[in-house]
Amino acid sequence: MSKRILLVGAGLSGAVIGRTLAEAGHDITIVDERKHIAGNCYTERDDESGVMVHTYGPHIFHTDDEEVWTYVNRFERFMPYVNRVKTTSGDQVYSLPINLHTINQVFGKSFRPDEARAFIETLSDTSIEDPKTFEEQALRFVGQRLYEAFFKGYTIKQWGCDPNDLPASILKRLPVRFNYDDNYFFHRFQGMPENGYTPMVEKILDHDRIQVELNRRFTRSDAGAFDHVFYSGPLDGYFDFELGRLGYRTLDFEMFRHDGDYQGCAVMNYGDVEVPYTRITEHKHFSPWEKHEKSVCYREYSRACGENDIPYYPIRLADEKSLLGRYVEKAKAEHGVTFVGRLGTYRYLDMDVTIREALDTAAAYKRDGDTMGAFHVNPD
Ligand SMILES: Cc1cc2nc3c(=O)[nH]c(=O)nc-3n(C[C@H](O)[C@H](O)[C@H](O)COP(=O)(O)OP(=O)(O)OC[C@H]3O[C@@H](n4cnc5c(N)ncnc54)[C@H](O)[C@@H]3O)c2cc1C
Repeated sequence: MSKRILLVGAGLSGAVIGRTLAEAGHDITIVDERKHIAGNCYTERDDESGVMVHTYGPHIFHTDDEEVWTYVNRFERFMPYVNRVKTTSGDQVYSLPINLHTINQVFGKSFRPDEARAFIETLSDTSIEDPKTFEEQALRFVGQRLYEAFFKGYTIKQWGCDPNDLPASILKRLPVRFNYDDNYFFHRFQGMPENGYTPMVEKILDHDRIQVELNRRFTRSDAGAFDHVFYSGPLDGYFDFELGRLGYRTLDFEMFRHDGDYQGCAVMNYGDVEVPYTRITEHKHFSPWEKHEKSVCYREYSRACGENDIPYYPIRLADEKSLLGRYVEKAKAEHGVTFVGRLGTYRYLDMDVTIREALDTAAAYKRDGDTMGAFHVNPD
């Protein structure tokens, strides 16, 4: 039987759930308080230069999930793209993630893999037997010099706290490659949508049973007109921040233009704490198949998220997790609403994971109908 379903948010979560349920014969309304679709993946061409700009920060598609890769390719042609990141530390530029080239650059050596591995072991701070903090873990893995050049300053700027206040679990494995592979991601599939993410989402939303309303903010009283709501807005926002605000980091993007090629690569990190920004992204390099004389760059600054800022990265330390637990309990007491996506479940989700979860959530609704609970994926 056809149901009336409301999707809050026209980002990937809302679009993919909406499309899947529209194809199953349900009537879908999607609202977004922004003036555009595609959520944080939104891209648009800069009028002056013609460069495709990733408005809310650069987005590179990468996945091991073949079904998700097939799904996105159904709606937009993906062009080959390999993310290669550089970092400036002191007066040098290095290759990231730390690889054989980086090690040889930092220490002025020409190590082969086994030699580099043995050398890194000599740098490891073995006096730290049971690393508890991010700093201890990094020192244990790579020693002082690499930690200070590549982790310390960047982490302080990105998270606004002392690396000793972050848990060791952030750095799970030795963050070093003993070869010259500088592909930032390990995934099997990687690429960029030829015309940006906005047309891709537009095509996902292009279905007779889907109606999209932009510039429309959802409030809980809207839910009554629908059989079920999938909510991809902020979990605490759904409850009008009744218990307090879940902590996020927000980003400020300082846009500037340049004639020609500003930095010769898409992403240049800045590891030194004295440089106030974390990185500069040059957007035309995210579309290497296009040619542009002029350039658009973003200097990216990270800071605590205020009430009127866009929430970007959930903090998820002990205090936030405890507040999250209380919101999860409240959410579970609601009926007819399922919380989805990066904001609805207060997690950092890459796009491929967002799409995977959206497909699975829609499949669960097709199976369970309106008895579906508050979460398909538990935020805890
Ligand atoms: C800086 C940054 C860089 C990233 N880079 C990558 C990358 O390189 N590769 C990758 O795979 N992933 C990347 N991601 C992750 C990617 O952005 C997410 O996977 C994706 O945006 C999640 O989609 P979503 O639909 O869950 O959320 P969103 O895109 O945030 O969509 C939620 C939508 O809900 C709307 N909304 C919220 N509340 C309401 C309300 N009350 N009423 C109406 N509308 C509302 C919002 O306006 C928004 O449009 C990055 C994330 C960040 C923060």
